[in-house]
Amino acid sequence: MLDTLFSPRSVAVIGASRDEAKVGHVTLRNIKRAGFAGAVYPVNPKSDEILGFKCYPDIASIPEQVDLVVFVVPPKVVLSLIDEASAKGAASAIIITAGFKETGPEGAKLERELKAKIDANGMRVLGPNCLGLIDTASKLNASFAPGMPAPGKIGFFSQSGALCTAILDWALAEKVGFSKFVSLGNKTDIDEVSMLSVLGDDDGTDVILGYIEGVKDGQKFMEVSREVSRKKPIVIVKSGGTEAGARAASSHTGTLAGSENAFNAAFHQSGIIRAKTIEELFDFALAFAYQPVPAGNRLAIVTNAGGPGIIAADAAERTNVRLAGFEKNTIDTLRANLPSTAAVYNPVDVIGDAAADRYKVALDAVAADPGVDGVLVLLTPQDMTEPVDTARLVASTSNGEKPILTSFMGGLKISEAVNFLREEKVPNFPYPERAVAAFDAMCSYSEQRKMPERKLERFDVDKETVERVLADALSEGRLSLGEQDARQVIQAYGFRVPGSLLARTVYDAKFAAEKMGYPVVMKIVSPDILHKSDIGGVKVGLADSEEVWQSFHDMTTRAKRLMPEAQVWGVSIQEMVAGGKEVILGMMRDPQFGPLLMFGLGGIYVEVLKDVTFRVGPVDRREAVEMIRGIKSYGLLRGARGEKPVDIDAIVDSVLRLSQLVTDFPQIVELDINPLSVFPKGREPVAVDARLTITGGDKS
Ligand code: ADP
Ligand code: MG
Repeated sequence: MLDTLFSPRSVAVIGASRDEAKVGHVTLRNIKRAGFAGAVYPVNPKSDEILGFKCYPDIASIPEQVDLVVFVVPPKVVLSLIDEASAKGAASAIIITAGFKETGPEGAKLERELKAKIDANGMRVLGPNCLGLIDTASKLNASFAPGMPAPGKIGFFSQSGALCTAILDWALAEKVGFSKFVSLGNKTDIDEVSMLSVLGDDDGTDVILGYIEGVKDGQKFMEVSREVSRKKPIVIVKSGGTEAGARAASSHTGTLAGSENAFNAAFHQSGIIRAKTIEELFDFALAFAYQPVPAGNRLAIVTNAGGPGIIAADAAERTNVRLAGFEKNTIDTLRANLPSTAAVYNPVDVIGDAAADRYKVALDAVAADPGVDGVLVLLTPQDMTEPVDTARLVASTSNGEKPILTSFMGGLKISEAVNFLREEKVPNFPYPERAVAAFDAMCSYSEQRKMPERKLERFDVDKETVERVLADALSEGRLSLGEQDARQVIQAYGFRVPGSLLARTVYDAKFAAEKMGYPVVMKIVSPDILHKSDIGGVKVGLADSEEVWQSFHDMTTRAKRLMPEAQVWGVSIQEMVAGGKEVILGMMRDPQFGPLLMFGLGGIYVEVLKDVTFRVGPVDRREAVEMIRGIKSYGLLRGARGEKPVDIDAIVDSVLRLSQLVTDFPQIVELDINPLSVFPKGREPVAVDARLTITGGDKS
């Protein structure tokens, strides 16, 4: 896939120039310098020869077929030459030229025309508005980047060209090698999903790094990432730029959701490691590129100074990394061979005056311990410290079985050692916290890879009823559905709801309450009142007809006073659901990823507590369980202080039913079931309240 883009047999550079200051010159020079073995055809009507290559006046005069065309000419010229390039046999193009959609409506129009043209020709295109690409295997540097990285196992793609040059410069300084290096630009055709598949299939790539500001097709992105992340780690930095899709929300879920939560959920669910900063991207890249993935999260720390050891241990405490407990054997060895002042438990402190030999004893012992999954070596340069010798022995211990990371701290005294570590592919971090964070990233990848494949379940449901309720609402022009309609929708998908009778008059209300049996709940019924409690529209525990009488008058008068515009249909008399715990289940349709499901502790305080988790739907059982276990107050559901635990499986089923509902009905854009009352095993959850919003028009 995309072979002609990354390893073409021939390349034409349209807009090649003799002027050394021009991109058209730099690009051609990069192609030449990197040692590309295929044919190179500069195209420029004003020159006969550039940089030793014969130059052609136009694409048509090139004598042979061309695989790849690189455009460095103004936007309109690019547009006019696509057909010609295609006629020459070019299956791929790199459009370095800027001036398309990034410049405004005029440019956006040009880019749409460009897209139509390349689609019509079946051409694959990188850019426009990009730096180009580098492939170290085919020795192609079709970019105007300042330099060529060494060959290596890291594949990189970026939506920002500027970041590409920064990463490249870092790579050159750190001697980090790359397989493919791609600047995506405006992503008119080739985007992050294409790159994930290419790098996923590429045998020369062991680690995938990316920088994105948004994704074009969230569900596709997740599907491809899920597959690729089983083969190799994907580390991505994602920065803002996507809030444009946010809309005013009328549900709790909508208020709490947001694109950050969607991205975090999507990354987590598809096995992508999210680097929070560029620094983390670099750190994680080194760890994954140079060291094996650990089997588990148990870390051994070897240090010659107490403080950094404690800092590392604290850092581990804040993550999923655990300090390994050593076997007796290991401890005996350490005790027998280290001075009596040394600490032989984790972190192992070989003491400030340790030379390299003491590090060797400790390192060999802990690395051999079966309870250790990875080792972090810390070093601070005292007078008797031997940084280079220590680096040498760390490198010789690093044998590809268990990951070894180092944090040699300091500057001058350790610089030679750090260079040595770099050459030997031992990732060194200037501070222990960063080393621990990198190990943590490796652990979560290791964990993720062990997860079973996703398996979606389906319940037997009544789709027709939902179709009818939604269609009726739409035909009446109602896009916001209150409890009366929403309960029918969720009931059709297997949710239980409390018995409920609509009462238009106070007599109806009394009659209904008697029929229901006291105590009852009274709620205002109005298509215009979404948050009923806010205006005193919910009364629980009404014990007799007197209270029903009183409440009816209070509630309807208050509704008229506080929301004079609201159309009030009456009240509902509801069965009182007591003795449960209240949780919230919700969904908000994210503009990039689709249905973003939410779970949390519910009731009227949900927006205050914000103790909620998110996943992109549809979810499977394992993901649903994770959502529920993920809230901070999960302990409350498990039963605190002698309380009976609630039936977690029943909540899991509820999440799955909701997931199925919002997958089946893409026109539902927001939905809250709040609260869902849940109980100990033996009693089914009850959806005490629900509301949803639908869209009338086309969702895409
Ligand atoms: P809204 O969310 O529109 O304010 P709800 O129907 O969720 O209205 O009612 C508010 C609160 O009242 C709920 O969180 C729940 O604690 C309680 N409640 C509502 N209906 C019942 C019921 N049938 N049984 C028991 N408690 C209820
Ligand atoms: Mg509610």
